[in-house]
Amino acid sequence: MSFSFCNVSLPVPLRSTFTYAIPETLRDVVQLGARVVVPFRKKSLVGVVVEFVELPHQGAKIRDIAKTVDFVPALTPKLLELGHWIAGYYLAPVGEVFRAMLPPVTELRTERQIALTESGRASADEETAAVPLLNPEHRTFLSNLRDKGGVLPFGSAAKLGLDDAAVQRLRRAGLIDIRESMVGRKAKTQRVIAWKSVATQEAPQTAFDAETNRVKAALEARGPLPLAQLLRVANISRSVIERMLRDAMLESWDERIDPAEDPFDIGYVPPAHELNAEQESALKLVRARFELGEFGVLLLHGVTGSGKTEVYTRAVQEALARGKTAIILVPEIALTLWIGRQCRAWFGARFEGVAVLHSALSEVERAREWWRVRHGEARVVVGTRSAVFAPLENLGLIIVDEEQESSYKQEETPRYHGRDVAIVRAKMENAVALLGSATPSLESYHHARSGKYELLTLAGRVESRPLASVEIVDLRDDFSKTHQTSPISSALQDGIAECLAQKTQALVLINRRGYSWSVLCRSCGASVQCENCSISMAHHKQRNRLECHYCGALKPIPKLCPKCQSQYVYFFGAGSEHLEEHLRAEFPGARIARLDRDTARTKRQYQETLGAFADGALDILVGTQMLAKGHDFQRVTLVGVVGADYSLSLPDFRAAERTFQLLTQVAGRAGRGALPGRVLIQTFYPEHYAIQDAVRQDYPAFYARETQFRRAMAYPPFTSLANVIVRHADLGKAIRWSRQLSEYFSAHDDRGLRILGPAAAPLAKLKKEHRFQFLLKSPKRSLLAKVLRGAMAYLERKEIPQTAVLVDMDPLSLM
Ligand code: ADP
Ligand code: ZN
Ligand code: ZN
Repeated sequence: MSFSFCNVSLPVPLRSTFTYAIPETLRDVVQLGARVVVPFRKKSLVGVVVEFVELPHQGAKIRDIAKTVDFVPALTPKLLELGHWIAGYYLAPVGEVFRAMLPPVTELRTERQIALTESGRASADEETAAVPLLNPEHRTFLSNLRDKGGVLPFGSAAKLGLDDAAVQRLRRAGLIDIRESMVGRKAKTQRVIAWKSVATQEAPQTAFDAETNRVKAALEARGPLPLAQLLRVANISRSVIERMLRDAMLESWDERIDPAEDPFDIGYVPPAHELNAEQESALKLVRARFELGEFGVLLLHGVTGSGKTEVYTRAVQEALARGKTAIILVPEIALTLWIGRQCRAWFGARFEGVAVLHSALSEVERAREWWRVRHGEARVVVGTRSAVFAPLENLGLIIVDEEQESSYKQEETPRYHGRDVAIVRAKMENAVALLGSATPSLESYHHARSGKYELLTLAGRVESRPLASVEIVDLRDDFSKTHQTSPISSALQDGIAECLAQKTQALVLINRRGYSWSVLCRSCGASVQCENCSISMAHHKQRNRLECHYCGALKPIPKLCPKCQSQYVYFFGAGSEHLEEHLRAEFPGARIARLDRDTARTKRQYQETLGAFADGALDILVGTQMLAKGHDFQRVTLVGVVGADYSLSLPDFRAAERTFQLLTQVAGRAGRGALPGRVLIQTFYPEHYAIQDAVRQDYPAFYARETQFRRAMAYPPFTSLANVIVRHADLGKAIRWSRQLSEYFSAHDDRGLRILGPAAAPLAKLKKEHRFQFLLKSPKRSLLAKVLRGAMAYLERKEIPQTAVLVDMDPLSLM
């Protein structure tokens, strides 16, 4: 049956969908979950069809859908359902939710194709026709398609007189498939370098030196190598290769890259371990869950280095063996490299099909991966937060690695939590959710103890390796001895020197990027603040400017204090750039690299630096917390943590939890191989329990202490929270609306609900907007949701724009 109207969700900050008429010609073409182009105000927008309706609301002015974008609906019915849940639970505009779930818009670069199916092939001939009532034009088209090899561009149907509706009917009858293909783009190539065999080689004009010898050794050992990989393995610069090519010691050619094959995989052999007893019993419980065939949440609590990844890959294998698909979520782009590679090695890039989704891919790459998943060519997806929306069908398992990570929370609309959405999606699809961590969030562990989740435990490291020994460096002591303001203490300095002498590796972590994170005037005490935000700007030395890490604003470096014109401008607080420079000066012979969001933007940059460190081509890696978790570097014997306590001074009830997690994770990066590890934590608060418990890597102790505090103060997991922010560029309006909202809220205060505020938000100004904050607390989430929905209706009555009020359900940060 075909409908005349449908509701379309549009990427606009409004909490409603919009009704459009379906023109006669598109009646059979428009589908649920498919994207369409519609007129909206004076623009054209791409939206998603979320519902068919018989009749629109009376009196509404209805416009026509302009055209369809998808022939295969981008969103499956299950994803539509999930999107509606997110919009309801997080009070997010439904159109913005669907926008977050859709593939990147690269339609211009994709080509739509028609492919003949098995039963289509059979129907192409009159004699063998599976569908007898086929009209003659349809049959001509099918036999044409068969004769042309089974795949034709979409437009060829029109040329034969078939309209879109007819094509759609053939698809529904299972005679053809429609697919989005990334063809028509130049095939990607890479440069491959080989050692010239002696026979063709004239007497080399260059004398062999250490560098050329390394190149020779690498190429002789491994055969021809892609340039990027050779640079890494031989640890030399590009110019050496160029020189050797000129001197005819090497030869090079371009090789086509198979999009499904990642050059990063070349030469990689996945570990093949027998599971130990603990891993085996964890896997048994996962298997038992699958046997039950119903939804369940499992929490895998395994200390760092206990071999959780191995349990993940086997769990995925179990899902695949049952004909199901699986998603593995990781908290950092960097981690998709390792798990992605391991999965490709296990499950094959093309056969079972592994797709990787994250934001450091180019749009084209992301679209390609996305459609591979949508077409069922990939059955395993590895990715960061938004991969929870991967359009897999028949989902059996969602793994959330390091489930406690705050990067799973999206801090812009829609403000969903990837882990929580994973659980909801698993429930909707009757799948298993497997959360893993060495330091579970208080919420998840609380649920595991209360029996809501099933707890699986890996208590020891693999092969009974010891945990790293963790030592505290009290910076107050260090300063009183040395009177130096070096970012690294003498203990850490000595530790690194020892590491270099023993030819092992060191990781040095700092949780701020840039050169210095604050610019102060010694004369008047003013700091240089961003003009749009109430926060100090960070100094980036190489780029020679100040940057705001919240809104991206830039400023030249001031010579004089902007406030009092004094010349005593002073840069304060070392960031990662400063630390790298400092280490280069202190250890001139060492091979050092830095990894943070300034040095790693693309997949390739991640691969080069992390690959070089893993291959032993670097001695010291400096980085922000993207290095703290998950990585499995076998030769790291020392981890130094600089500025560990910065997070303790934030006005945030989760400060202790975050610090404990970060330090325990960091400690987990040392001593993972055969060599024992050592961790040095520099801090000004050595007696804080978050630091003390991290030193002992004692999760139960920390959990016990922290839950006491949360219970006493009525914070999660004992209370549900919502953070409501009223914001506007005009201070007067922001104040007036806060006052109005406060009137509404005060009627609900104290009835099972506590409402704090309005108060100036900790970030009182952000991106030019003034911000006031309400914090809502209730032991009953349903009550919280009800009052918030009431607040939304109240805004509408008072004509307060929806965009001026931000609701953050289950907030992670209260800034
Ligand atoms: P986690 O994620 O728990 O910190 P990983 O999954 O990274 O730990 O595993 C740590 C290391 O132990 C990896 O190098 C992995 O290959 C290895 N490993 C995993 N399982 C076993 C096992 N059963 N026997 C020996 N080594 C193992
Ligand atoms: Zn000044
Ligand atoms: Zn700013």
